[in-house]
Amino acid sequence: MQQLIRQLLAELGEDPGREGLLNTPKRVEKALKFLTSGYNMDVDEVLNDALFTVEYSEMVIVKDIDFYSLCEHHLLPFFGKCHVAYIPRTKVIGLSKIPRLVDIFSRRLQIQERLSSQIADTIREKINPLGVAVVMEATHLCMSMRGVEKQNSFAVTSAMLGIFRDNARTRMEFLELIRHRGDVPHGLPAGTGLTCVND
Ligand SMILES: [Zn+2]
Repeated sequence: MQQLIRQLLAELGEDPGREGLLNTPKRVEKALKFLTSGYNMDVDEVLNDALFTVEYSEMVIVKDIDFYSLCEHHLLPFFGKCHVAYIPRTKVIGLSKIPRLVDIFSRRLQIQERLSSQIADTIREKINPLGVAVVMEATHLCMSMRGVEKQNSFAVTSAMLGIFRDNARTRMEFLELIRHRGDVPHGLPAGTGLTCVND
């Protein structure tokens, strides 16, 4: 990878041999490996000892989870907050594992829509809840840095499954609980959002 990065620097018109760039290939490799380390993380390993059977059927919410991901179209960061909710049927996930789950899927090349769905689908698969909801709000550097559609560089996506999809009141309750600064649209329909421009 380091050889490729040296080559990339040269292609960009830089001198990979100058002092400031000498260790850059090593650093970039390390950074990229970390930012894509989700490929090597195993969901079952992370959740392994953290699924519990309980009698609890109220909404569980973990909000304002920071996440950082890379857009697969430009390899540039998009980052923001993730809010996760579910209503248990018989099982719950240890609360601290939810942010770990977000990391597993964020630390890959992604589009925001798929990232939201993968988190929701995984929770459904692992604990079969009555419903699960994921809302992600993110800034996309591939849009804001390149000056493309500046007004839309902030994107909101959602994945609503089960009762969150079928029951408007449950969905509204969740959206109300995660609302802050008034920037999550009220009554957000499932799948709202946009991905970076494909150019
Ligand atoms: Zn992009």
